[in-house]
Amino acid sequence: MERLVIVGAGLAAAKAVERLREEGYEGSVTVVGAEDRAPYERPPLSKDLLLGKDTDPTVLDEEWWGENDVRLLTGARAAELDRETGRVRLESGEWLDYDLVVLATGAEPRVPDLPGADRALYLRTLEDKDRVLEAIGSGGHLVIVGAGWIGLEVAAAARSHDVRVTVLERDDLPLQKVLGDELATHVAELHRSHGVDLRTGVSVEEVLVGADGPVGVRTSDETIDADHVLVAIGAVPSVALAEDSGLEVDDGIVVDERFQTQDERVLAIGDAASAWNVTLEDRLRVEHWDNAIRQGRAVADVLLGRDTVHDWLPYFYTDQFEFSMEYVGRPGPKDAVEIRGDLAANEFIAYWLDDESRVTAGMNVGIWDVSDTLRQMVGTTVDRSELGDLR
Ligand code: FAD
Repeated sequence: MERLVIVGAGLAAAKAVERLREEGYEGSVTVVGAEDRAPYERPPLSKDLLLGKDTDPTVLDEEWWGENDVRLLTGARAAELDRETGRVRLESGEWLDYDLVVLATGAEPRVPDLPGADRALYLRTLEDKDRVLEAIGSGGHLVIVGAGWIGLEVAAAARSHDVRVTVLERDDLPLQKVLGDELATHVAELHRSHGVDLRTGVSVEEVLVGADGPVGVRTSDETIDADHVLVAIGAVPSVALAEDSGLEVDDGIVVDERFQTQDERVLAIGDAASAWNVTLEDRLRVEHWDNAIRQGRAVADVLLGRDTVHDWLPYFYTDQFEFSMEYVGRPGPKDAVEIRGDLAANEFIAYWLDDESRVTAGMNVGIWDVSDTLRQMVGTTVDRSELGDLR
């Protein structure tokens, strides 16, 4: 019987095993996860769960694992991938033999090389969420370093709890590289209108730490007192296992359009993988929920011997105050942004167009059930005067 080991018990792994068993995969399957719990979805950690809503982020019911004969080892970190002998060593010392191994190790928060940064709050796991929620619940002043998606979502959640929030961003605008100046200005104004003290063009140089933890931050210009400091400056892929075993790693674990590394017995998916996308004709690592789901399912198809390739365009979403959106595609850094609809009311479509008027990405804000239409438009050439808000 084929022995499959999946390292990393996150969303991508869960979707892979779910599909494998649904589709009749008969090999033995072991999933090894460093966290103490079964796979769960992370988007609610910075949204519903921080807002205090009662949401269960678990991907597969507790019974699913036994019923489907999948061995789930939680609290079990894989420490070594021995490709010579086809074995994974766990930190406990146990060895797992494999015929095939899928690395689905995800990503970890980027910790800046600054004094005190290791004492700040980060947000990746349910335990992190508990700490952030406790901080928000205790009131005081929350300083967030980084105005990316997670930093801004936490800011929005904290403001809904009436917490004083300061966000410090190194760029001139939040999300400037993703959204472009006009939309980034809109997001900045949204946050400021809800009482977030958003300061841009600020370089944080130290997290100041007192006897009980962070007490503020020092920037190039000033010292800002805080009761809590959250650092949210992005994530780095968890690639140590792959790297140590001699697999090729760039921004992530290098795989082809069928998630295959240079070792035919090792595949990689999700946030950790830098995969060839046949639609974009480029390699990219995507840190999004939808990508983890799609790649989990697709790698199952590959393992089932089907003719599957990775061709899905990146998609993600966010909710911050009344700014709720979906985004599909991958624009170039110089693409123009065309906005149709009502920007002020947060009901509009943004199109990214290259210099040949080809759509490279689309974002629907407050207008729903149009994401598939936008997806179909990506790659097509359009007449700018005919672009509308799809209502
Ligand atoms: P992960 O979910 O990171 O799972 C990987 C697992 O592998 C982890 O549990 C890790 O502990 C484990 N692991 C790592 N190394 C080892 C090892 N050596 N041995 C054993 N286990 C190991 N995406 C969106 O599109 N929209 C959103 O709104 C959104 N919100 C988010 C909010 C937050 C707070 C976070 C953190 C992420 C958010 N994302 C969002 C991103 C999305 O959650 C990720 O893209 C997705 O979780 C990736 O799934 P994954 O399975 O690849 O990795």
